[in-house]
Amino acid sequence: MKEDFRITHTKLVTQETKTTKLFLILFYLLFLSFDAFYYFLYPLLKGKKQGIPNEGLGIWLYVIVIGLLPIGMYFLKNQKPFIVKYIYLFGYLGTDIIHNLIIYLNSEKPFQAGNIVEILFVLFTPIFVNRKYFWIASSTLIGKYILLGILLRDSHVLLPILIFLVFTAIAFVILNRFFSYIRSLTSIHEEFRQNEKLAVIGQMATAIGHEIRNPLASLRGFSQLQLERNPTTSEFYPIMIQEIDRINIIVNDLMYLGKPNVVKLKKENIEEIIAYTLSISKHQAEQYGVIFETFMEGPLPSIECDGHQLKQVFINLFKNAIESMPEGGQIKIKIKVIETGRMLISILDQGLGIAGEQLKSLGEPFYTTKTEGTGLGLMVCHQIIKDHLGQLNFESKIGLGTKVDVILPIRQ
Ligand code: ADP
Ligand code: MG
Repeated sequence: MKEDFRITHTKLVTQETKTTKLFLILFYLLFLSFDAFYYFLYPLLKGKKQGIPNEGLGIWLYVIVIGLLPIGMYFLKNQKPFIVKYIYLFGYLGTDIIHNLIIYLNSEKPFQAGNIVEILFVLFTPIFVNRKYFWIASSTLIGKYILLGILLRDSHVLLPILIFLVFTAIAFVILNRFFSYIRSLTSIHEEFRQNEKLAVIGQMATAIGHEIRNPLASLRGFSQLQLERNPTTSEFYPIMIQEIDRINIIVNDLMYLGKPNVVKLKKENIEEIIAYTLSISKHQAEQYGVIFETFMEGPLPSIECDGHQLKQVFINLFKNAIESMPEGGQIKIKIKVIETGRMLISILDQGLGIAGEQLKSLGEPFYTTKTEGTGLGLMVCHQIIKDHLGQLNFESKIGLGTKVDVILPIRQ
C-alpha cells in the first residue's frame, strides 16, 4: 500500500514538473514579448522614444520576475513542483501591485491594466487540474484589480475585472470537464479491474469446483449411507451431511462466477422448487431454531425458468434469512401471481435487518458482514434473476427483519 502510494506520488510529481516547466516557458515568453512589443516595437513603428519607462519599479520589475526563476528551479529540482505555481502567482502579482501603486498613487495618470501574462495564470488552472489553485489564482487576480481600484480610486480597473471574470468562467468549465473526464476514466478502469478480478476468480473457481464436486458427491452419498445403516449410533452423520451441503453451496456460488450465464428455460413448478430448497435448508433452520411457513395464493401456474438456477437463488436467500435470526424465529414465504403476468415470491424474516446505507452494497462481489460469509450469495442471486429478466428487491428495518421480493416473468 505504501509502495503503491509512493509510485502514484512519483508519477504525479513527474506530471506536475512537466506542466510547471511548460508554464514557466510560456510565462517568460509572454511576459517578455509583451513588454518588448509594448516598449520597443510599438514605439519604433510610431517613431517614438523606445525603452523601458523609468516609472514604478522600472528595471527592477524585470530583475525580480526573472529572479523568481532560480527559486522555481530549486523547488523543481527538489521534487517539490506543486508549490512553484503559487510562488509565481504571489511573486508576480505582489511585485505588480507594488509597481502599480508606485506609478499611480498620487498621480493623475489613468490606470492601465498590466501584462497579459496574467491571463496565463487563469487559463493554466485546468492544465494543472487543481481546484484549489483555480480558486486561489482567479480570486487573487480579480482581488488584485479590486484592491488597486479601491486604493487608486480609479474605475479603469473595471475592464480587466470583467475580462478576468470571463476567463475564469471559461477556465472553470474546462476544469470541470477535465475532472468529469478523469472521473469517468477512473470508474471505467475500476470496473475493468473488478471484471478482470472476477474473471480470474471465476476461471479458477470453475476449475477447482469441478474437481471438488465429484469427491464431495461421493462423500455425501457415503455419509448418507452410514446414517441410514446406523440411525441411532452416531449424531455426527447429520452434521457431516450438513457441512458437505454447505461446501456445495459455496462451490456452486463460486462456479457461477466463471460460467457463461446461459439460462435453460423450461416449464417448472415453483412449489416444487421451493419445496426442494426448503428440504436443503431444513438442517440449518433446525439448528437456528427457525421455522418456515409457506403461503400460496390460488392455483399457481408453472413458470418458464431454469429450475436449477432458481434453486440456487432460494437456497441463498433462505440461508441469509436463517443466518439473520441467531435467536430463532419464523420465516414466511408468500407466493402469488401479480396482475402483470409475473410471479412474486416474498421471503420475510424476523432477523437483524439491514441498515439503509448497506442496502446499496448488497450484491457486490465479496460484500459480507459475517465472519464466515463469502459475500457471493446475493451476487449470484442478482445475476440469475437478471438473466431471467426478473427483479430482486430488498426492504428492511433494523431489528425487525427483512423482506426480499423475487419477481419472475411467467412467460406462457
Ligand atoms: P454472505 O451471506 O456470505 O455474507 P450474501 O451475498 O449472501 O453473502 O449477503 C451479503 C450480506 O447481505 C450479508 O453479509 C448480510 O449482511 C446482508 N444480508 C443479506 N440478506 C440478509 C437478511 N435477510 N437479513 C439481514 N442481512 C442480510
Ligand atoms: Mg449468504
